[in-house]
Amino acid sequence: MSRLHVKKEDQVFVLSGKDRGKTGRVVKVFPASGKVLVENVNVLKKHIRPNPAKNIQGGILPEAAPIPLSKVQVICKECSEHARVGFKTHEDGKKVRVCKKCGAELD
Ligand SMILES: [Zn+2]
Repeated sequence: MSRLHVKKEDQVFVLSGKDRGKTGRVVKVFPASGKVLVENVNVLKKHIRPNPAKNIQGGILPEAAPIPLSKVQVICKECSEHARVGFKTHEDGKKVRVCKKCGAELD
């Protein structure tokens, strides 16, 4: 059972790095490496070599690269702030994430 604070489709806030202060949608979470892929964040310019045999044109393609999970915080839907996430277990055993700022459930 994972206790990751970020899930796919979350809106997250970037805390550090070159995209500090940006927000974006989580495209994918990589639990094994502790990383997260966020739309339009940590975009690298990937150089593509032309390969006429495969009909590939050369050029520079922007491509987002995963960043460490510790660099992002979920944006709470209730208070619209980026916040640390806590965990709460319901009586039926369901685990949910809660916003540490306003206490709202995020799942
Ligand atoms: Zn909140």
